[in-house]
Amino acid sequence: MTDSGEEMVATMRVNSLWTRLGLAALAALTAYLLHPTFWPAAWLSVYTVTVVADRFLFRHALTFERSEQWRASEWQRIVSVIVTVVVFSSLSVYNWFLGGAEGRVFAAISVCCSLMSVTLTMYHKKRYLFAALVPHALYLISLPVVTVILSSGGAALPFAVVSISILAYLVYLMVAVRTLNGNMLALGQARQVAEAAMHAAEEANAAKSNFLAVITHEIRTPMNAVVSSVNLLRKTSLDDGQRAHLNLMAEANDVLLGLLNDVLDLSKIEAGKMTFEASAVYLPEMLRNLEALFLPQATEKGLTLKTILARDLDEQVISDPLRLRQILFNLVSNAVKFTSQGTIWLRVRRRKDGMLGFEIEDQGIGIDAEQLERIFSSFEQGEAATTRRYGGTGLGLAISRKLARLMGGDITVRSEPGLGSCFCLSLPYEPSTSVMSTPDVPAVAAARRPEPLIHVLIVDDHEVNRRIVSLFLEPMGWGWTMADNGIEAVERCYARRFDVILMDMQMPLLDGIAATRRIRAGKGPNRETPIIALTANSMDYHRAAWAEVGVEDFLTKPIDPELLITTLLDKAEGRAALPGDQAISV
Ligand code: ADP
Repeated sequence: MTDSGEEMVATMRVNSLWTRLGLAALAALTAYLLHPTFWPAAWLSVYTVTVVADRFLFRHALTFERSEQWRASEWQRIVSVIVTVVVFSSLSVYNWFLGGAEGRVFAAISVCCSLMSVTLTMYHKKRYLFAALVPHALYLISLPVVTVILSSGGAALPFAVVSISILAYLVYLMVAVRTLNGNMLALGQARQVAEAAMHAAEEANAAKSNFLAVITHEIRTPMNAVVSSVNLLRKTSLDDGQRAHLNLMAEANDVLLGLLNDVLDLSKIEAGKMTFEASAVYLPEMLRNLEALFLPQATEKGLTLKTILARDLDEQVISDPLRLRQILFNLVSNAVKFTSQGTIWLRVRRRKDGMLGFEIEDQGIGIDAEQLERIFSSFEQGEAATTRRYGGTGLGLAISRKLARLMGGDITVRSEPGLGSCFCLSLPYEPSTSVMSTPDVPAVAAARRPEPLIHVLIVDDHEVNRRIVSLFLEPMGWGWTMADNGIEAVERCYARRFDVILMDMQMPLLDGIAATRRIRAGKGPNRETPIIALTANSMDYHRAAWAEVGVEDFLTKPIDPELLITTLLDKAEGRAALPGDQAISV
């Protein structure tokens, strides 16, 4: 490690070469004008050599990486500083004794300026500071003192006064150096305190994000049971009162799930753990789905929803489909929520700056200027009464803007209270050339019926979770086997072949990832059976851990019954088509 004070002085001396030479040339010219001889030119030549040598030494020192290297050659640089100062101020002797009254004034002023300059540039390192100050100060004191000694009687008096004032100047300079050092020390300490506080704040923030991630995970597991039970109960025969209560519970579940997902997203973003996918997005399909999603709600409120995709735009672009849908969902959902009449426009076009632009414009309640910037902060809502009247948490826009910025774009808004708002999402525009289609999930499930008979291994340590999955499989006529820990799962995998394995992550004895690794590494009939991680751990690094052991797909808890069935079908059909599979069928 190098000494930062030393480094600052060295950098200063290296960088100031041309300034020092320029000033020296000016001083030499003045000296020549005051008393024309060849000495000022000779002085300039000698001074140039000393300054270049001085720069060479300090520049070389800047290449040192260790403190010992700096220390070993320090004396060379101290001598160099003394030599340059002695040479520089020697011109003052010439001016003082040969330049007449003007020469004496010029000599005194130039030494004072040099003193000031070395003080300001070398206070970082005391040794260099003294090496530069002492020769200058000796010149300044000795010039009038020598003159007093050489003069006699009344002629000596003015020089004695000059000597006294020079002494006073030096005392003031020393006081200034001390004050400057004190201030720099205080500044350094304040910076250290600020850095420590920043570090502590960053640690607290990371701890908070971690806490939020853990807590949301812990809440998701019981929520899984609640949501799934409500879904199952809704399929049984109920009277009107019971159905109303269940509908209320389902609505509350949706709100809670939305909140959980928002908090999880926010903690991921703040912990810097949000990762993005870059894949082809078919814009017409995405917009159609979005419109279809909000149409019932909009129609119920008497609103018109209009989507316009500009003609000059490629229909397929590269983006993160999940995050893009999340942002658009939030913006359209807000537009519908805060509008009671008129039309909501969703326009997609290529912006003048080359970005892909989405505009969501409504004729709703609008937002006043003072609230416009605040609405992008976490937990901020336009007005205090908003939650009471419209619901929501004030997290949606904060997350959307952060996501947009992380994706290389932004969200801006313009709004007029009472007239409406227009939210503009901009994202990098990258047309995609791959051929794809985005079929919608329930349609695929429907098209595939009748389903093949499949047998699933359900691995989960919670009995409720295992039971819930089996209740979803039952109406399909599918079979299942249960295992309540990783060891049991591996054993069952040796006993018979399954079409799909649903694997939980955290389990006693052997967790899901280790069990998957053993199943994949073993010689049993399920070496290549598709494994779907059924987990409440939906952070990206959890997914990465699953992917590493060869897990095909992920389903997050609470279970979405439709998605569960479609994914199982997908995997089971893919498995049936594998060549050579029949040979290991049991
Ligand atoms: P939430 O909608 O959950 O309250 P958001 O972060 O999505 O949270 O929005 C924050 C606030 O911004 C809302 O509470 C509302 O006051 C204001 N807002 C957002 N979109 C609109 C809109 N289209 N029209 C009027 N106000 C809006």
